[in-house]
Amino acid sequence: MRQIREKCSDCGVESNARFGESDSGWPRSLAHWRSFHCCACGSRYEADGAGPLPDELRTIELAEGGIWCLSLDNVSLESLNELRVVLVLGLPELAQVKACAGREILFGTEWEVRRISSALSDRGVSVTLSSGEPTNGLFNIRDVWRTLLAR
Ligand SMILES: [Zn+2]
Repeated sequence: MRQIREKCSDCGVESNARFGESDSGWPRSLAHWRSFHCCACGSRYEADGAGPLPDELRTIELAEGGIWCLSLDNVSLESLNELRVVLVLGLPELAQVKACAGREILFGTEWEVRRISSALSDRGVSVTLSSGEPTNGLFNIRDVWRTLLAR
């Protein structure tokens, strides 16, 4: 959960809004929420949304929670096939993954990377998570999710 300053739409005073990510209905509906309570006039709202955090909030999450990366421990035919299924990748993307064996292939927020990681682990694929700037970071998970959600 993170916080952001937000101007109250009723009285104009700034208060803290809180936001976070959740995984209801994973993998197709990664979700996020935002809630606000004005300390001056008491006005409040709660909002839920489907998909990754909106860019404005995701930028804050990445700055405060760090950029998380995922790499495959073995770039075998089996693990590539599972990756293709989980992320709905095409053959050109798979070739890219193959070419960067042993390095990070995905990056995103901790929550996003952990969701993908657990989906792959469930399918028997061994992965390593790390945090820090990706050295190549083929896929921004946000973009993969947009593709998934668009289907
Ligand atoms: Zn207010």
